[in-house]
Amino acid sequence: MNKEPQNHTTIHKSALAVVTAFLAVHTCLLLIFSVLHIILMAVVNVFSILTYIYTFYLLRKEKLLLLAYITYIEVLIHMSLATVCLGWGCGFQNCFLGMIILVFYTEYAMLSTKNNAFHGVKLAFIYFIAYILCAVFTRIFPPFYRINENLEFTLMLLVSSVTFLLCIFFMSLLVYLSMRSTKNLSHTAQTDALTGLPNRHYLTNNLDAIYTNPEMKDYWITIADIDNFKSINDTYGHNCGDYVLKTISQLLQEHCKKTGITPCRWGGEEFVLFGSVGNNRLAQINFLEDIRKDVENYHFEYGEDKFRLTITLGTAICNMGQSLDEWVNLADKKLYVGKYNGKNKVVF
Ligand code: GH3
Ligand code: MG
Ligand code: MG
Repeated sequence: MNKEPQNHTTIHKSALAVVTAFLAVHTCLLLIFSVLHIILMAVVNVFSILTYIYTFYLLRKEKLLLLAYITYIEVLIHMSLATVCLGWGCGFQNCFLGMIILVFYTEYAMLSTKNNAFHGVKLAFIYFIAYILCAVFTRIFPPFYRINENLEFTLMLLVSSVTFLLCIFFMSLLVYLSMRSTKNLSHTAQTDALTGLPNRHYLTNNLDAIYTNPEMKDYWITIADIDNFKSINDTYGHNCGDYVLKTISQLLQEHCKKTGITPCRWGGEEFVLFGSVGNNRLAQINFLEDIRKDVENYHFEYGEDKFRLTITLGTAICNMGQSLDEWVNLADKKLYVGKYNGKNKVVF
């Protein structure tokens, strides 16, 4: 399954959340600055609001890169001016620190949508330089507008709260997205693309985990191989061969559904059934015989072509003291005994 659209939707929603939050913050700031007659900042906020209204349009048009740059430039200009106009005490410069998290989230988001034109590190350095310049400027020059201490403190709280909330939100989102990507990659790496069954990689990982469990007992491993599969490919074509592999996978899945057995595609036309139906040898024989008979009686139909086929199965129970390789080899040897003795057999 393609997981790209999943990521894309999350990124789209997070961009919508940012522009909505920024629009709300600037509307609040416009009200505050208008009431305080800080005309320059009120005018700047009108431009900021118009910018964020425009970003909704960009979001609709899926122009995420342009949206990101416009947002970052707006924050840079707005917060620099606010710091210079109202002084260091209002804490507008703290937004630069918060924005760095947003910058790296954007970089990750852009890369995961295969857009590598976003220069996150450069932008982070620009914010760093802006922070230092604001610090130096406010150290040398007094603020353009004087506001009382309580108001300054309130503004600082407002700006800091928004910054912290954005940081928490985007750090969580970053962790969530990277965890989901890791899970998806691991699933893809352990799943056979044609049949959807777990693949050899999955089995090796899980065999190792179970094999090192001291309580492990009554585990069987069975290798099932389609008889004369090459002739199916040669007679009906490779696509028909793929259809056979998928159909047999479904049959195996149906049989294993109510048991503790996992069917895997080992490679080519070989499948491995791994797990336990208990230490009852007869139950195991009956289980595998049912599969063999089901395949033998199945009427394969691919387009105009109708045919039957068989499988041979070799199975071995795990004995303590036996190595994993010995165990798998034993099942493999049993399989070849079955092949040698006429195929369409279950060999113990
Ligand atoms: P036996 O009864 O001894 O098992 O003979 P066989 O013909 O089944 O085995 P052989 O090893 O000679 O041929 C296996 C064939 O499986 C050869 C290869 O082209 C085919 N094969 C492997 N993977 C795939 C696949 O994913 N799709 C298709 N269509 N064929 C595959
Ligand atoms: Mg084979
Ligand atoms: Mg075969």
